[in-house]
Order: sequence, then structure tokens, then C-alpha cells
Amino acid sequence: MPAVKKRKVAQEAPADDSDVSSNDSEGTPQAEADSEANSQVSEEATPAAADIEAAQPAAKKSFKELGIIESLCEACETMGYKAPTPIQSESIPLALQGRDLIGLAETGSGKTAAFALPILQALMEKPQPFFGLVLAPTRELAVQISQAFEALGSTIAVRTAVIVGGMDMVSQSIALGKKPHIIVATPGRLMDHLENTRGFSLRSLKYLVMDEADRLLDLDFGPLLDKILRVLPKERRTFLFSATLSSKVESLQRASLSNPLRVSVSSSKYQTVSTLKQAFLLRPHKHKDIYLVYLLNEFAGQSAIVFTRTVHETQRLAFLLRTLGFGAIPLHGQLSQSARLGALGKFRSRSRDILVATDVAARGLDIPSVDVVLNFDLPTDSKTYIHRVGRTARAGKSGVAISFVTQYDVEIWQRIEGALGKKLDEYDAAKDEVMVLAERVSDAQRYAIMEMKNYDEKRGARGRNKFGGKRSRDEMDKDEG
Ligand code: AMP
Repeated sequence: MPAVKKRKVAQEAPADDSDVSSNDSEGTPQAEADSEANSQVSEEATPAAADIEAAQPAAKKSFKELGIIESLCEACETMGYKAPTPIQSESIPLALQGRDLIGLAETGSGKTAAFALPILQALMEKPQPFFGLVLAPTRELAVQISQAFEALGSTIAVRTAVIVGGMDMVSQSIALGKKPHIIVATPGRLMDHLENTRGFSLRSLKYLVMDEADRLLDLDFGPLLDKILRVLPKERRTFLFSATLSSKVESLQRASLSNPLRVSVSSSKYQTVSTLKQAFLLRPHKHKDIYLVYLLNEFAGQSAIVFTRTVHETQRLAFLLRTLGFGAIPLHGQLSQSARLGALGKFRSRSRDILVATDVAARGLDIPSVDVVLNFDLPTDSKTYIHRVGRTARAGKSGVAISFVTQYDVEIWQRIEGALGKKLDEYDAAKDEVMVLAERVSDAQRYAIMEMKNYDEKRGARGRNKFGGKRSRDEMDKDEG
């Protein structure tokens, strides 16, 4: 990361020049630190803004005390938000002052309301169509954000439109024709509409949000974002939210923000060891399936996400687990959009309690009350590990994350532990009990292989190979997992 001069001003006075927190480095959690001490506001070091603007300490204030108007406070109450989360306490007053913001926060921290409330408040003061645009990397996240806007803005009758790939363009054009206040979009499809939908322009836009900016850029959206930014008015407020601050995100912020303040809150789930219990299970590769079944039995009745690295493995495990009577449902990027939303819906409603997923599911999806995360395949980078385990132990609840480490994964695991800044314990699995499952699991494996053959044949018949060539804009927000 290029040197960006920052000062910590939120909690301590006098501010200390030398205190450049590592809070934002590659998503590394601030282990066991106190959550209050971890929220910060800092000014970007542009020559014009070298001095610090004192921020209010994040004392426990109500939404009203942060400056939120009555009708929106009521909406928060209806949503069950008793008090602002740390990212909301830090961001909302600054956003209401009209500042551009870079929020370093993840899904689960309450960041959607942190940007939605100030935008809705500004909208109430001066209602107009195409007031705000939120860009998100995945379709599911876009749907989720628009739902949050609608729920929080219900008392002020806000109109939103979701513009994402994989859905009918004509009905989206009609939705845009109704002049919504807020558009939540994935970049590819938005650009298609900007180029092809008559009468649609964002020239009067007042607020732009780039949510999960690190993910947006991961998915090669860079050139597309540049194109979109060129057709937006410069006179606007911009909020950029990201779980991590990579050099790509830095370049994005420089291109599109004006004199921004940085707000960073490391989410409490990483700070309290008692709420998130992390462990690993060191076992040979060939025994992974059997240990998975063992663990799912151990956590029977609880909701779990099993993360894998490939679409094939996701689908295979879903077949295997179903054969053994588990309520498992797969989620990956090669399912149709409606199948993905359907899978998530079933998992949310608990009609299935095991979601087997590629990292598509780790990206920004708000899946409430997940008790257990099992990393069946380790992620290749620690950033993704942090996203994955962030699906559990949210909002003060407890959670468990167990990672399978095989003979091939030791180095990756050491890197992850390095990023976490601590060594984790090995999960205590009773080997005798595990091996009792061997025969049943082996039968189920054979069955799953057969099912996979049928599945692959069906997919082949439908004409696959769409990932072979250059990805279309529509494909980009689909992700490859
Ligand atoms: P987000 O990080 O925006 O995806 O939010 C994660 C979850 O926290 C969502 O289910 C929100 O509805 C919920 N949430 C947001 N703000 C608050 C709050 N102040 N108090 C309680 N829950 C909240």
C-alpha cells in the first residue's frame, strides 16, 4: 500500500502522528483488541488536507443523536436496530456533514445502513429521480442492498431499482422509466443500460456508493468502473466501502473521491475470541469427506456453510450429503440466477440447514445466524478466509469456524495463521467415532460420483463452455466459483 499519512483521531487525544494503524492491512483482524479502540477516522493526506479534522469520539450515541431524522429513526426501530453499530456511529455524522468517505468495513458490520441512512436523509430534503447509485460486485448483494434501502426508506416511500445481469433487460428499462430514487447495480449491466436504454442517464446523480470495492476490482471491473465514473457528475458525494484496502482500491479512491475521510472499524467478531471459535483439522486429503460428515453430525441441528474451492466439489458434496440424509443445498456461480436466489432463500428460511458454497457465497451476502463455517477446501488467500469465517459469530452471537488442512495445505494454513496473528488450536475429533462412518460415506461417495456424471452430462447437453471465451459484461458479476 502506498504510504498514506493518517492520524488516529477518533478515540485518543492528542492525536499521534506515528500511529498508522495496521487496521486496514489485507483484512487482518485486530485480534482481541477492544472494539471501541478500533474505530478510527482519518483524513487522506492530500496537500490540501494535511491537517486533521477532529471527529467526534464514537461514544454510544443513538441514531437521533447522530443526526438522523425522526422518520428514519422510526424505520431503524422497526428493523430492530436498537443502537448504531460502530461503523454507523463513525460514518453517519461525517456523511451528514457532506463528506466523501472511505469505509473499511465488512458485511455484517451494518455498513449498508451506514451509507443508506445519510443518503435517504438527503433524499428527503431534496427528492429527485436518480438520486443515488450503489455499485456492488454481485447480483445477490445488489438485491440485498436494495431491500435494505426499501426497508429503511419505507416511511418516505423511496423507489429503488435493481439493475443486475442475468435478468430481463426490458423490465429493467421499464423500472428505470419509472424514475427510481435509488439504483443498485452491478457495473456490467448498468453500463449496458447507460449505453442502450433511451432516456436513461445519471447526469443528475447526487450520491455514488461503491460497495465491496475490493471485490468489485477483484472481478476485473476496473475499466468498466472508469467508464461509468466518466458519465457521472463530478459534483456528487461518494462513499467507498471495502473490507480491505488494496492498491487497486487506493487508485479507485484517488480517481473518484474528493478529499475523503477514512473510517475504519475492525469488526468485533475478530476481536472477541469467545464469540468466534476458530480451529483446524489436520487430516489426509483422502479422509476429508468422512471428517466432514463427522463434523456435520457433531453440529447437527445448527446452520452451517461448507466452503469449497470449485463448482464441481460443491455439487459433489451436495449430492454426497443429501445421500446421507443431510439437508444440503449447493450455491455456486454456474447455477442460474433464480437457482442461486432460491438456494439462498431456502437456507435463510432454514428449510435447508447446510449450504455448500464456493466463495460466491462469501462475498457480501447477508446470511443471518450461521452457526458453523467449515472450510472444506482452504481458501488460497487469507483475505478470503476472513470473508468466509465472517459468515458466523455475527452481531455478538457465538460461532465456530473449522478449517480442513491436508498434507497439501500446510503452507497456506501457515500464511492464514500469520495473517490472523495467532496460532489456532486443532479441533479435537475422536478418530474411533469418525471411522465408524467409513462404510456409509464410501457408499455415498460412489452414489455422488454417479450423480455428478448425470449432472455433467445434462450441463454439457445445455451447451456449456461459456467461460471459455472472453467474459461478457453480463458474466462478470456472476463470478466463477
Ligand atoms: P450489513 O453489514 O449492512 O450487511 O448488515 C448486517 C446485518 O446487520 C443486517 O441484517 C442488518 O439489518 C443488521 N444491522 C444493521 N445495522 C444494525 C444495527 N444498528 N443494529 C442491529 N442490526 C443491524
